[in-house]
Amino acid sequence: MASVNLSNLNKIYGEKSKTPVHILHDVNLDITDGEFVVFVGPSGCGKSTLLRCIAGLEEISSGDLNIAGERVNDHTPKERGIGMVFQSYALYPHMSVYHNMAFGLELSGMPKDEIRSRVTEVAKTLQLDHLLDRKPKALSGGQRQRVAIGRAIVREPKVFLFDEPLSNLDAALRVQMRIEIARLHGTLKNTMIYVTHDQIEAMTLADKIVVLSAGRIEQVGAPLELYHRPANRFVAGFIGSPKMNFLEVSVDAVEKNQITISLDGHSLTLDRQTDAFACDKAALGIRPEHLTVDGSGDLFIESTVSHVEHLGDQCMIYMDLEGLESPVVVVADGDVTAKSGQTLKLGIPVERCHLFDQNDQRVLPVE
Ligand code: ADP
Ligand code: MG
Repeated sequence: MASVNLSNLNKIYGEKSKTPVHILHDVNLDITDGEFVVFVGPSGCGKSTLLRCIAGLEEISSGDLNIAGERVNDHTPKERGIGMVFQSYALYPHMSVYHNMAFGLELSGMPKDEIRSRVTEVAKTLQLDHLLDRKPKALSGGQRQRVAIGRAIVREPKVFLFDEPLSNLDAALRVQMRIEIARLHGTLKNTMIYVTHDQIEAMTLADKIVVLSAGRIEQVGAPLELYHRPANRFVAGFIGSPKMNFLEVSVDAVEKNQITISLDGHSLTLDRQTDAFACDKAALGIRPEHLTVDGSGDLFIESTVSHVEHLGDQCMIYMDLEGLESPVVVVADGDVTAKSGQTLKLGIPVERCHLFDQNDQRVLPVE
């Protein structure tokens, strides 16, 4: 088990070529021993590159990587004590489950008895013990992924790295494996770093989520901290599904403990501390699940329903607001009977509003 610390880590591909590409920019991150950390961010933002730099599969261009307090920039992947599980689990097709898991240990020259006891033990934890003689082709997708995880566990790594390990599985299996990974972390208590683009995996597995955008860390925090207190518009829009609505508003008056904004001709006063606010335009952020169509709220806007999606337990109502390019999304109760073309009164509860300044930083509410 080990802590992982990144300090001003940069990754530049083709550093000595004519066209170097700077992918990771001054990444600073402290992961404590036993923590479950999830990297999220849009495709291409550098999640895999960061994971591969930690694993030793990519050279670090500058900065320090410490594992268990030791600088390991120049250590081989093996010397770093890392176990890695990828999206494509690439098991050896001609080997049994047992040998797929034992192979790495056999190569390292470990005595046969010890290998047998480790593999048996791990197979039991992963409920693979009745499948040890099977070949990968006789396994389901979830079982194969468990073998890939088992193969990493038997090596008793200090740190586990997962790169979208469940994205090849169907939805039901993903839920099951997600729970198994959470349980595994509860049992092993290893430091785990997990890359995903799945919101639910990130929210449910992580002690700490790291939100990346274009090779930079936007925010690090506990899942609910990011949900309730996103630092900026990027994080606010990225965490939460469907994503937060943003409405452009004008700022009419700023006093010490109050700010008055107007939206679509309506004025709204937010009773909040407003010291950092000094611009006349802002974006009001409000999550779809916090907007109402049942008459509750502090500010109301009449608008037209453009589309409704019924999901059973809830429905998504898309509403066209004047001056907005994309519709506002409302998540309402499943039994709400809204139809496209209908006019509805959209309610905005003040205490659920976020306000972002012209630099996209969240200035309200101040905690
Ligand atoms: P993510 O995992 O977040 O989707 P990656 O870490 O795979 O993103 O990629 C980040 C960026 O680095 C992408 O723009 C990708 O094209 C670029 N990249 C990845 N590998 C290389 C490479 N070997 N040479 C140049 N650019 C690369
Ligand atoms: Mg990736």
